[in-house]
Amino acid sequence: MGSGQVTDWQGKNVTVAGLGVSGIPAAKVLHGLGAKVTVVNDGDDARARAQAAELEALGIAVRLGDGATLPEGTELVVTAPGWKPDKPLFTAAREAGVDIWGDVELAWRLRGPDAAPWLAVTGTNGKTTTVQMLAEILKAAGLRTAAVGNIGVSLLDAVLGEEQYDVLAVELSSYQLHWAPSLRAHSAAVLNLAPDHLDWHGSMEAYAADKGRIYEGNRVACVYNVADKATEDLVREADVEEGCRAIGFTLGAPAPSQLGVVDGILVDRAFVENRQKSAQELAEVSDVDPPAPHNIANALAAAALARAFGVPPKAVRDGLRAFTPDAHRIAHVADVAGVAYVDDSKATNTHAAEASLAAYESIVWIAGGLAKGAVFEELVAKSAGHLRAAVLMGADRGLIREALARHAPEVPVVDLDRTDTGAMLAAVQEAQRLARPGDTVLLAPACASMDMFANYNQRGDAFAEAVRELGAGA
Ligand code: ADP
Repeated sequence: MGSGQVTDWQGKNVTVAGLGVSGIPAAKVLHGLGAKVTVVNDGDDARARAQAAELEALGIAVRLGDGATLPEGTELVVTAPGWKPDKPLFTAAREAGVDIWGDVELAWRLRGPDAAPWLAVTGTNGKTTTVQMLAEILKAAGLRTAAVGNIGVSLLDAVLGEEQYDVLAVELSSYQLHWAPSLRAHSAAVLNLAPDHLDWHGSMEAYAADKGRIYEGNRVACVYNVADKATEDLVREADVEEGCRAIGFTLGAPAPSQLGVVDGILVDRAFVENRQKSAQELAEVSDVDPPAPHNIANALAAAALARAFGVPPKAVRDGLRAFTPDAHRIAHVADVAGVAYVDDSKATNTHAAEASLAAYESIVWIAGGLAKGAVFEELVAKSAGHLRAAVLMGADRGLIREALARHAPEVPVVDLDRTDTGAMLAAVQEAQRLARPGDTVLLAPACASMDMFANYNQRGDAFAEAVRELGAGA
């Protein structure tokens, strides 16, 4: 398929791997362009059949119950980002010399000649938040933009829809980057790099390499986290356009070519006239909600990308003030009897949980769920000083219990020994019993939710609901 835009899809044999949030729209778009589309899917349940029937009515072929065999004559595979690279379908495609694109690659290849440039963000944690902050800043500068990727507008809609954009704020996961070989962003940021999804990528090196793809071919700036050397290493390894700069962000005072914090002010020492001698004030720490350290880092990364695009300082401040965090991300639910209840259900890995545990002094920690291969030693060792007590639930709670026993033996632990949805109410009741006035009861599970809940939203809602019940009884 080459590496450029594909303009003639007429009669091209395309296999779409996976019925789902990316597969169904991809199949429809390609079919609309004249391609001969076959969707293959592992599952064959009632939902898949209903989706298949809808596509078949349009003239799209669907094979249910077999996502492993490459259909005869396939010229291109377009895959859902979550499909693991070692699947037989991909092996067969590679052996046949057939390209494999993910949803991001497809959007990148389908965008028009005057398409808006992409400011791209990846990282283990903070992607959604940063992209939303970035979109607010760009809007405050009067630019037509949208936060796209896992949130809001889908990438395909953003590049093919009616709406005209000046620039896009694009969130990219490591899976998506893995399957996006020709993507070239205007500028990009890697927020942080901690072990996650290693079962998918195979190793930390492979995970880092996929994240690092975001810098390939950047034109203006590669934004990295000064506190996370691995992100800077990725910049160094990237092949970028001539003149593209490495820009660091730091919670400390910035060196030249960095954004940082001085006396509670976010300052820019990268996109200023004389960066050896001067710095530009952008915003105050108190303009960022919540003003927790990791979130200031997100704001600095967003500001760096916006400044790389030429946005004036005032728009950075106005955009950050306009930003409000999404649900389940360090959301303050209620105060009950002098105890704050905070929902960070989105802390689905240890790195995120570590950031939120660092943001409060004395915490009754509600944790547990699916560990996805994670280890909890470092998280518990670093956070022990903040813990009043811990309440554990979910399939892999034993791993957290053992880490607590090793690194924080003085912290009281309640193991609910439950994996049912109703366990959340019991967890909140236990937490209330253990908390003292001034404490924070923090849901930061450090695990995925699917053992007990449909997703992290439902887990967070269950927490909030349980807190309301406490409040009603108090
Ligand atoms: P993502 O889109 O990468 O999953 P979110 O912005 O949705 O990121 O935040 C996910 C979780 O990570 C939240 O629990 C949040 O508290 C935590 N978090 C956000 N930003 C950071 C960061 N820079 N470092 C560590 N944890 C973070």
